[in-house]
Amino acid sequence: MSDPFVFADDLGPAKIVHVHEPGLGLRGTLVVDNVAAGPSIGGLRMSPDASTEECFRLARAMTLKNAAAGLPHGGGKSVLRGDPHGPREHKEQLIRAFACALRASQEYIFGPDMGTDETCMAWVHDEIGRAVGLPRELGGIPLDELGATGFGLRHAAEVAARHASMSLDGARVVVQGFGSVGLHAARCLAAEGAVLVGASDSRGAVASPHGLDVEALAALKRAGRSVAEHGEGQRITAQELVALACEIWIPAAQPDAIRAEDADRVQARLIVPGANIGVTDEAERRLAARGVVCLPDFIANAGGVICAAMEWSGATQAAAFAAIEERIRANTQAVLEAARSRGVRPRQAAVDIAVERIRRAMQTRRWSIF
Ligand code: NAD
Repeated sequence: MSDPFVFADDLGPAKIVHVHEPGLGLRGTLVVDNVAAGPSIGGLRMSPDASTEECFRLARAMTLKNAAAGLPHGGGKSVLRGDPHGPREHKEQLIRAFACALRASQEYIFGPDMGTDETCMAWVHDEIGRAVGLPRELGGIPLDELGATGFGLRHAAEVAARHASMSLDGARVVVQGFGSVGLHAARCLAAEGAVLVGASDSRGAVASPHGLDVEALAALKRAGRSVAEHGEGQRITAQELVALACEIWIPAAQPDAIRAEDADRVQARLIVPGANIGVTDEAERRLAARGVVCLPDFIANAGGVICAAMEWSGATQAAAFAAIEERIRANTQAVLEAARSRGVRPRQAAVDIAVERIRRAMQTRRWSIF
């Protein structure tokens, strides 16, 4: 067996819990990374092949994201192995059982992520009373339905565009992954005059230099179809989507969407990641060398967790969206200014800001991280 402390460093993880229930075919993992600032909030991801390493990387991203956003929460993440599109009854059983198995892990608050939604959070809440991203009927602010993360991406994009002497009005945008985050980002950016020139989902991609109709693509998704079935524009490959002529490229699907080998083909001037770890480190380096501004994922896509933390504290929807706008704009500005003045990549500047906050919180704790 490999070393169970393989991920351990001076920030965490505080705890890794594996859950196995053969009767249900349940296999799941929780990583509680750093809870110096408060109980961790992080999504429950359901996917057939999510590894412990991926769970740890996502939990660490939440530690940084929550600290950068100034939330009284640490970072955690849970993954449940399984097909999120499998029979609903089985999915419900798995999620309820997983929540029960983690009942005692008070330092983790469940939130929605890929493969889970408000209804899944309602099941968790029903079992253990510890979930955010709940349906409205349970006092939640339905962040995916409202597009909290996409709304935050639009504000991050606007601040970064201004920093690069660009305007959103007329900017060409590509969205990889037309799910909850991608759709709302496209919608919010289009409302500012940006033009969606390419979009994709797991079944294909479509492009048009004249602009795609965001609402027509949304209707296709609602009908369970792919954006690639859009009558207008041209069907293109995932590789072609990376190299489309545009100003803003938004990864909003899976981790590692832009890898080192893709970086030289990117034509965008600005990358605004909706996806966590949407751009690999090496790709980010190469993009920076070419003058492409790549916003750190945990700064740009913090809208969802800011909304979730506001929900946890009992805030209204209006207060939650005001907090997203204020924090993401301020953070994007601070990170880009620090990066420019120190001559470092935005990610380095953002990590330094977040780690500084985490260390200050750790100094107030008896056992440093928990
Ligand atoms: P979602 O399941 O609603 O949408 C994901 C979309 O990506 C779907 O349309 C799917 O078809 C598409 N997709 C999957 N694989 C693809 C591929 N290889 N190429 C192109 N498209 C592909 O998920 P979501 O909630 O929109 O989350 C998207 C990403 O944003 C994830 O990485 C998630 O971790 C991250 N994120 C989400 C939130 C949130 O509030 N939902 C917050 C922060 C980060």
